Formats: sequence, structure tokens, C-alpha cells
Amino acid sequence: MSCHIDYQAPDDLLSDRIILVTGAGDGIGRAAAKGFASKGATVILLGRTLSKLEAVYDEIEAAGGPQPAIYPLNFEGASWPDYQNMADKLYETFGCLDGVLHNAGILGKITPLQSYNPQLWQEVMHVNFNGPVMMLQALIPLLQASQDASVVLTSSSVGRQGRAFWGAYACSKFALEGFSQVMSQELENISAVRVNTLNPGATRTQMRAVAYPGENPANLRTPEEILPTYYYLMGPDSRGFTGQQFDAQPKK
Ligand code: NAP
Repeated sequence: MSCHIDYQAPDDLLSDRIILVTGAGDGIGRAAAKGFASKGATVILLGRTLSKLEAVYDEIEAAGGPQPAIYPLNFEGASWPDYQNMADKLYETFGCLDGVLHNAGILGKITPLQSYNPQLWQEVMHVNFNGPVMMLQALIPLLQASQDASVVLTSSSVGRQGRAFWGAYACSKFALEGFSQVMSQELENISAVRVNTLNPGATRTQMRAVAYPGENPANLRTPEEILPTYYYLMGPDSRGFTGQQFDAQPKK
């Protein structure tokens, strides 16, 4: 069963924490990266479009947040040595990771299974699941080096209950849910690393506009409005919760 938490984050909630955000250049990831920095975190901005990451970097600096870092990476082309290299570089610079928000993702196509292009299916599974899994495998030692580390994997309502035509996107989110359970159990009791999934719910972003072209975006919550659950999961108040499913918005 998934749950929604009403949470008010104190201003210094994440001070001295080092948090990696994937897909930090746009949408929910951009809002989360800026939000974490506003609560004191040093944020590592990971994404595939450097100019977008640079813009977020500048916005964090202009707001007076701790100096962020940029890590350009495209999940589509990256392979195991890239993730090992990433872990080595982050270890050299930071020594540990207190949080990972894996948020990057692609929609693929909303279409019947019979007409789903197999190459696109592979691409969606690779970007949304296989790549992030390799990244997290490589980052486990950095997470274990933290006194209190939180991994948040971005899911979706179609990753918890299948839905016709959502194809590879839905399956990739189910896979992330399964991975969260495996990783959380492996690290429970032997480390201070917790792993949970978070469903943002309907949120006003580009991905949502493509998925639901007929919807009025003005009726949707903005990425900034759904951040309280992200804060809760990244900060110390969620200690003890692992292998759970969370929702950033109350269920209708
Ligand atoms: P978005 O606006 O499309 O942002 C997705 C982010 O992921 C972008 O920064 C994008 O980079 C990055 N990304 C995509 N492919 C990548 C790759 N190959 N390598 C590295 N980064 C990549 O989507 P969003 O709505 O904010 O979604 C964020 C997360 O929430 C996703 O996991 C999505 O599945 C989930 N979600 C969203 C909703 C919703 O209503 N919005 C609902 C349920 C779940 P570029 O900016 O360079 O394209």
C-alpha cells in the first residue's frame, strides 16, 4: 500500500547533505534540485542537456544556495564503465552521497502492444530502468559511506497498476518498484541507506503535456507544489522507512 505524507520542511532540513538528482534540467527534477538546495543541500545536477543543467546551476547560485555540481550523463548511451567512472569521480570530490533522487525518465509512446516499436521499447527500458540500475549499483559504496542516506526512485501510477497502451513506460516503472524492494532489503540492517519509490502524481510538465494533450495544464499541480514529500523522503524524518511506496499527492 502506498502513502501520502503532509510535510512541512524546516529551512535547514538538508544542510550539509550531498544529493544527486537525475533529470535535474527540467520538470520535476529541476524543481527538486532547486528545492533541495534551498533547504541547504549541495546538489549534483545530472542530466543529458548541459545548457539546462547550467541554467539550474545559475538559478541555485543566484538564490544563495550551496554551490552545486554538474554531472552531464545520458542514460541512453552510458554503460557500466561510465557509471564506475562516475562513482570514482563523486567519491574523489564528495566522499559520500546522502541522497539520490532518480527522476530522469522518458515516456516512449502510448500505443497498443502490437504496434509498439521494439527498438523504442528497448530504449525506454534502458533509459528508465537498466541505466539507472547500473548507476545505483556503482553508487552503493558512496551511499554506504553516509551516516543517513536516502534513495528515492520516481515511479508512476502506471508502475503500480498496469494500464492499457502505456507499454514500456509502465513496465519500466514496475521494474523500478521491484528494484527498490530488492535494494532496500539488501541494505537494510547492514547500512544507513533507505530506498523508497515515489509517485509524483499528475504534475504540470512537458512529459505530462505529451501524455495528455487534451488536458488543461492549469488544473495540474506544479512541480514546486509537490515537493513536500520529496523533502520528507530526503531528510532525516523519513529514517526507518525503507522498501515503501509513497505518493507526492493525495489519491483522488
Ligand atoms: P520531463 O519534464 O520530461 O523531465 C524529464 C527529465 O529527465 C528531463 O530533465 C530530461 O532531460 C531527463 N532525461 C530524459 N531522458 C534522459 C536521458 N536519457 N539521460 C538523462 N536524463 C534524461 O518529465 P517530468 O514530468 O518532470 O518527469 C519526471 C519523472 O516523474 C519521470 O520519471 C516521470 O516518469 C515521472 N512522472 C511524472 C508525472 C507527471 O505528471 N509529470 C507523473 C508520474 C510520474 P532533458 O531536459 O534534457 O530532456
